[in-house]
Amino acid sequence: MTKQAKQNQSFEVMVLGAGIVGVSTALHLRRLGLDVALVDRTHPGLEASFGNAGIVQRNGFVPHAVPSRARELMGVLFRQSSAVSYDLGTLVRLLPWLRRYHAASGPRGAELYSRVVAPLRALAVQEHLNLAHSANADRFYRQGGWIHLHRTGASYSQGDAERYYARVYGVAYEELSAGEIGMLEPGLKIAGRRAASMKGVHWTESCSVSNPGAVVDALWRTFVREGGRYFRADAAKLQRKRGGWRLDGERGTVFAGNAVIALGAWSQDIMKALGETYPLAVKRGYHLHYRPLSGASLSRPLVDVDNGLVLTPTDNGIRLTTGVELAERDAPPNPKIIAMARRRAEDLMPLGRPLQDTPWMGSRPCLPDSLPVVGASPTIPGLWVNFGHAHDGFTLGPITGRLLAEMIAGKTPVLDPTGLSPLRFMA
Ligand SMILES: Cc1cc2nc3c(=O)[nH]c(=O)nc-3n(C[C@H](O)[C@H](O)[C@H](O)COP(=O)(O)OP(=O)(O)OC[C@H]3O[C@@H](n4cnc5c(N)ncnc54)[C@H](O)[C@@H]3O)c2cc1C
Repeated sequence: MTKQAKQNQSFEVMVLGAGIVGVSTALHLRRLGLDVALVDRTHPGLEASFGNAGIVQRNGFVPHAVPSRARELMGVLFRQSSAVSYDLGTLVRLLPWLRRYHAASGPRGAELYSRVVAPLRALAVQEHLNLAHSANADRFYRQGGWIHLHRTGASYSQGDAERYYARVYGVAYEELSAGEIGMLEPGLKIAGRRAASMKGVHWTESCSVSNPGAVVDALWRTFVREGGRYFRADAAKLQRKRGGWRLDGERGTVFAGNAVIALGAWSQDIMKALGETYPLAVKRGYHLHYRPLSGASLSRPLVDVDNGLVLTPTDNGIRLTTGVELAERDAPPNPKIIAMARRRAEDLMPLGRPLQDTPWMGSRPCLPDSLPVVGASPTIPGLWVNFGHAHDGFTLGPITGRLLAEMIAGKTPVLDPTGLSPLRFMA
């Protein structure tokens, strides 16, 4: 397979960033008959799209809660947890962003969010399965949904809005007692006095994957097999050239009439250099794989809502992923976070030794209204954006990739893109 061009080449579109969002966009563009170059500085799918919890979510109608009032933030500072933790300097820098996030997460914000996200969610799971099937990647997918485990009644009540919108949008779920969670997942330790206050929600219409990085890799290989071209280059070298775009790569120069920014947590670096500013922040997260002890296993992802951690059965063991760390994207990892998550997870499942020496760390690209920007740049002709997928990019990448590809190709888009327009961030 030829992965890199050895000379200068011209394309109709170059897609910058080969995570799930960029690869899906490129593959859809190619299938709409366009000449497409996909560019990344490294191998596809090694960042957030590699290390996530692998849940392809049918539900998800309220923005992810992050403490943003002064009192809540002080609480988190004195009681760092695997659900939310932060570095004080970053927090101070992010206060204006957190204020916007807070405003967009209240009841009115949730109503707006649910209205925009519901049509995407209605198509996202099937779009994943379709793309995966066409890439011969079905073997990584499992049905059976995922479980929200609430350790207390108070935590269960905080999910009321999510369940309300699920009913509004016709998304099925089953409420579970502690005993029923134990029956669905016999590998979990759900017993004793602690279990009396536990409740669960089984989101039955979602699916999950056993290896998110392998899914992106399969989609990328399909893109190349179907005539797309892959280049290694640094997107920071993107230049405007005679009404189009030029990018000097390791083995040649790529020219294209259109460029798509799908650089995840790095998108704002390039957008700012091109003269357009988006309020993109990052929420970092970690994972580590463990061998389950004494034959315990899981058959679907389980979210411990109170501790913000997820246990996912993967091809490499049980993947423990953490919640939100508000820290600078490029700051060194904080090993305490995965250690905290492991301690909390072991209340639920006995974990053996870690299967890697160091945890993986990645960055969720987040805009304050928790929605991505998908569409034409409002100020730069020939530039398109598809980034900011936050906690849901693995789920939404294939469908927003399709949506943007249809817009670029001049086809009627699969759904109304207005709520995702980048215009909402233009002053
Ligand atoms: C711990 C954790 C758990 C998660 N769990 C889930 C989940 O269960 N379900 C879900 O739907 N979502 C989940 N997410 C969110 C999801 O992983 C992200 O939203 C999604 O992967 C973002 O995809 P992306 O393609 O935009 O970015 P990325 O996957 O980060 O890809 C960006 C690409 O841009 C490239 N790049 C960056 N800078 C340059 C440059 N200068 N030049 C060239 N290339 C460059 C990178 O190399 C990378 O390949 C989770 C995220 C984390 C961190």
